[in-house]
Amino acid sequence: MSVLIFADQADGHIKKSSFEVLTYGAKLAAQLGTSAEALVLGNVNDDLASLGKYGVTKVHQVKDANLEHVDAQVYAKVIAEAVTATGATVVVISHNQTGKAVASRVAARLKAGIVAGASALPDTSNGFVVRKTVFSGKAFANVSISSPIKVISLNPNSFTTVSGEGTAEVNVLNIAVEAPKVKVTAVNKVTGEVPLTEADVVVSGGRGLKGPENWGVLLDLAKELGAATACSRPVGDAHWRPHHEHVGQTGVQVAPNLYIALGISGAIQHLAGVNRSKVIVVINKDPEAPFFKAADYGIVGDLFEVVPKLTEEIKKM
Ligand code: FAD
Repeated sequence: MSVLIFADQADGHIKKSSFEVLTYGAKLAAQLGTSAEALVLGNVNDDLASLGKYGVTKVHQVKDANLEHVDAQVYAKVIAEAVTATGATVVVISHNQTGKAVASRVAARLKAGIVAGASALPDTSNGFVVRKTVFSGKAFANVSISSPIKVISLNPNSFTTVSGEGTAEVNVLNIAVEAPKVKVTAVNKVTGEVPLTEADVVVSGGRGLKGPENWGVLLDLAKELGAATACSRPVGDAHWRPHHEHVGQTGVQVAPNLYIALGISGAIQHLAGVNRSKVIVVINKDPEAPFFKAADYGIVGDLFEVVPKLTEEIKKM
C-alpha cells in the first residue's frame, strides 16, 4: 500500500502545483503509515531525484513519444496502469487544468471513489473523509470514500508546499502507451507571458477600464510586478483582451499569491475563478462594489489615477 502522486509537468519542467500535491501526498502517506511515490509522464529536464525533498521516496517515470502533449484519455490510462503496477491505494492529482480532465477518468478506470477539489488532508480517524469546496468555494462538504482505491484531486493553493532534504530513487516504468486519438499538428505558444494558472501574481481588468486602448495602465503595473494578466468575461467577450485571459466560473480558475482587480465589480461568477487567491487587492471607484467584500485590501478610487501612482511607487522599490 502506498500513495501515488501524479507530478504534472509542462515543457520539461515539473509544475509549481505539483510541489503542492507532492507535499500533500507525502503528509497523507505519513498519516497512513505508508510511503509516498511520485509519477511523472514524458521526458523531463528537471532532476527527478530532487523531488525527494518533498517527501517522496520514489519517482516513477513513463517515457513515450505519445505523452508529449497532454491527452486526458491517454494520460488517464497510463496513470491507472501505474497505480496497478505500483500497488498504490491512494492517488493524488492536482485539481489544475490537466488534473480536472484526468482524475475522474483515472477513478473510473480503477472503479475508485474520487473527491474532486479537495481542500484538506483526509480525516482517517473513522474511515476516509475528505473536505472539498462546493458552490464555487462558498461552502465545504465532507465526502467519505469507501472504495479500496481512492482518488483525490487537490485544489491548487489549498496546501502549503514544504521542502526539506531528501533524494528519491528514480524508476522507469514500462507501460505501453497508446497513440492519442487526437493528433496535435501545431502548438502556437504565447511567448514572453507568465502562464495564468501558474502565476504568483495576476493583474486583472474589467469593464471599468472602458476599452482596450486603456490597457496600458494595467500592463505597466503587471510588467513591474512580473505578473500575468487576466480579465473579466465581458472584457473577453468584447475582444478587448484574448479569451484565454478570461477568469471565472466559465473561464480560467486562478490561485495566485496576489490577485489585483482593476475596475471589476466582483460578480459571483468572477469570484468563482479567483477566490482561492491568497491575497486579493481591489481597486474600484464604487465603494459598494461587491468585490470589496472578498478583498484583503481595497482602494476606493479612479483606477486611472490610482494605478499609475502605484506603478511609480513599485518602480522605486
Ligand atoms: P461591470 O460589472 O460592469 O463592473 C465594472 C466595475 O468597474 C464597476 O464595479 C465599476 O464601479 C468599476 N469602475 C468603472 N470605472 C472605474 C474607474 N475609472 N476606476 C475604478 N473602477 C471603475 N464574469 C466573469 O468575469 N467570469 C466568468 O467566468 C463569468 N461567467 C458567467 C457565467 C454566467 C452563466 C453568467 C450569467 C455571467 C457570467 N459572468 C462572468 C458575468 C458576470 O456576471 C459579470 O457580469 C461580469 O463579471 C462583470 O464584469 P466586470 O466586473 O468587468 O464589469
